[in-house]
Amino acid sequence: MKKIALTIAGSDPSGGAGLQADLKTFNALGVYGISVPSVLTSQNTGGVEGIYELPADFLSKEMDVLLQDIRPDALKTGMLYSSDSIEVIEEKIRAYSLENLVIDPVTVSSTGVMLIEEGVLDALKRLLFPLASVVTPNTYEAAVLTGIEIKDDKDIKKAAVKLKEAGPAVVIITGGHLHGKAEDLFFDGVDFMTLENERLDGEFHGTGCVFSSAITACLSLGFTPKEAFIKAKDVVWQAMKTAVSPGRGMKILN
Ligand code: PLP
Repeated sequence: MKKIALTIAGSDPSGGAGLQADLKTFNALGVYGISVPSVLTSQNTGGVEGIYELPADFLSKEMDVLLQDIRPDALKTGMLYSSDSIEVIEEKIRAYSLENLVIDPVTVSSTGVMLIEEGVLDALKRLLFPLASVVTPNTYEAAVLTGIEIKDDKDIKKAAVKLKEAGPAVVIITGGHLHGKAEDLFFDGVDFMTLENERLDGEFHGTGCVFSSAITACLSLGFTPKEAFIKAKDVVWQAMKTAVSPGRGMKILN
C-alpha cells in the first residue's frame, strides 16, 4: 500500500490551489491522497469570489468518519476560515494521535481577498502550531503572525525564531525576494538553510498549496523535514516551469 496523506483545506474549483492542488501534488509524489474540505470557495483563475465555510459540527463528522477508517501517515492544513474549525481539527489530531502535521497558515489570496476570519491566526498559533512538524508561512503571513516587519535577512530570521517559539519543530518561510530571487528560509531551532531560484515571469496561483502539500507527501514517505524542504522546493520550481493557463487569469502549477 502507498503512503497516505490527508489535506484539510479549502476547495478551489479551478484546481490551482486548495485541496485540488494538494491531491494532485500527493499523487505526483506517489502518495495516496485523502481530503476533508474545510471551506468551499467560488473562484476561477481570476480570483476568489465567494467563501462558504462548512459548519464545525460537519467538519467534525467528516474527520471522524474518515479517520475511523483510514489513518494518514502525514497531514496538512490549508485554508481554515474560523477558530471553530481550528478547535475541531486540534481535537481530532489529538484524539486520533495524528503525526507529521504541516500547517500552511493561509491568510489572503494573491489577488488580495481575505481567506480567514479575524482571530484565526491567533488560534492557529495557539492550538495547532504546538502540534506541527512544519509550518510554511510566506513572508507576508510570517510578518502578520509575528508582528515583525520583514525588510532584510535579519528580520526574516528573527521572524523564523519567533514562529519556532510557538511550538512547531520546523519553520519554513517561503517567498522571500529580498535579493531579487525566490528564497525560502528553513529553521529547525538550530540551523538556518536558504534555498533560492530565479523568479519566473507571470502570476502563479497555488504555489503555497503545492509547496506545503509536497512537504506533507515527503513526510509521509519518511523524509526528514530538511529533505522534504529540498524536494518540495524542486517540485514547485518544476511545476512552475510547466505551468498551464486553463482560464483567462493566473497560471496554474502543473
Ligand atoms: N483558494 C484556496 C482554497 C486556497 O487555499 C488558496 C491559498 O492557499 C487560495 C485560494 C489563494 O491562492 P493564491 O494566493 O496562490 O492565488
